[in-house]
Amino acid sequence: MTGIIFNPDPEKTGDFMYCLMKELYPICRSITGDGVRKTLTIIKKHVPLNIVEVHSGTQVFDWKIPKEWNIKDAYIKNLSGERIVDFNKSNLHVLNYSIPVNKKISFEELRSHLYALPDYPDWIPYLSSYYQENWGFCITQNQLQNMNDQYYDVCIDSNLKSGFLTYGEFFIQGELNEEILFSCYLCHPSVCNDSLSGVVLLTYLAHELNTIKPKYSYRFLFIPETIGAISWLCLNENCLKNIKFGLVVTCVGDNGISTYQKTKQGDNLIDKIVEKVLIDSGKDFNLRNFNPSGSDERQYSSPGINLQMGSLMRTPYGDYPEYHTSADNLELVDSNSLADSFKKYLDVIYIVENNGIYLNLNPKCEPQLGRRGLYDMIGGRRELLFDKEGLFWVLNFSDGTYSLLDIAIRSGMKFSDIKLTADILLEHGLLRKVL
Ligand code: ZN
Repeated sequence: MTGIIFNPDPEKTGDFMYCLMKELYPICRSITGDGVRKTLTIIKKHVPLNIVEVHSGTQVFDWKIPKEWNIKDAYIKNLSGERIVDFNKSNLHVLNYSIPVNKKISFEELRSHLYALPDYPDWIPYLSSYYQENWGFCITQNQLQNMNDQYYDVCIDSNLKSGFLTYGEFFIQGELNEEILFSCYLCHPSVCNDSLSGVVLLTYLAHELNTIKPKYSYRFLFIPETIGAISWLCLNENCLKNIKFGLVVTCVGDNGISTYQKTKQGDNLIDKIVEKVLIDSGKDFNLRNFNPSGSDERQYSSPGINLQMGSLMRTPYGDYPEYHTSADNLELVDSNSLADSFKKYLDVIYIVENNGIYLNLNPKCEPQLGRRGLYDMIGGRRELLFDKEGLFWVLNFSDGTYSLLDIAIRSGMKFSDIKLTADILLEHGLLRKVL
């Protein structure tokens, strides 16, 4: 037998991922700052990450690394001195990257710095202002409606100073230098499905892959969205030639059906692999085309970089009302959905690692299977994972041009069954692996 076989307990891993999310959820993250460092330090307990710091002001392609942002506290107090909006209750209350402010102002002046969602009166929106200096509070519509005082004390105890942008990277050297890239973003504060679900899934995927010696090399990036991807690409242009394809991982924890967003090319090998994994799962799924206004695939697949990056999600960002609000919380995600997504990512890697092209060594008509004990064995032990149909498919198509994945797609049989069949034919000397 050849190729890797994973044997994690997906249910248990779902619980572990959910626990890690609970640990990371309260941290106030942004595109720079101590929240990202704290998050990476926690991930490092599971995966031996390399943590990289890039100086503020560094030019990365057309962008400059901004000043580092950190925050200790923030509130709005009414005239009775009561905190009616409190950063300690939710870090979403502060417009992310707000400059410091500490003053008494009229409600009229304050109003232009307040953001709420009239359609969802209990939810806090998640908003940021990274590249334009501003300050603000994100509050619920109910909080806004109860603000009847003429003056308020506002305080945002933040600082914007020259510092660093921080990201984490983990690389597994396989037998081949050709590598598969997995990328997630860790810049969102307390939201779960968008951003954090991808972070916890990648942490456990990297942890799992680190236990085997794979054929391909694997790179895992834990970066701030957009500026982090741009920074990594700018600083690692020499690595790009080895990247075969990759996936951006986010929105993998809700209980919606799986959605696969294809690569820009649309018919890349990774597109075929993920679609086959979703078909073989026997569950409903959606496919959608590459979207240049999506997540970090925008940077990875820009014309001068041109990596083929898909994104295997559940309900995509922007397609669920809780997206970028306080309702994208620990209740929106669950360990079973995380486990199901994790299993699908493992299945993708299983195909990546085990796909190959074989040659039928007895190509003139069918080999006599009964004489080799194959036909009887299958007849008598069909219940043992086996379908003799697979033998005919593998033998007929193994002319050195069709891969096992091609055969699995064409036959409608599961990839794992076609692989098992190829292994048995290989053992009996009827096949040779050519690629
Ligand atoms: Zn987002």
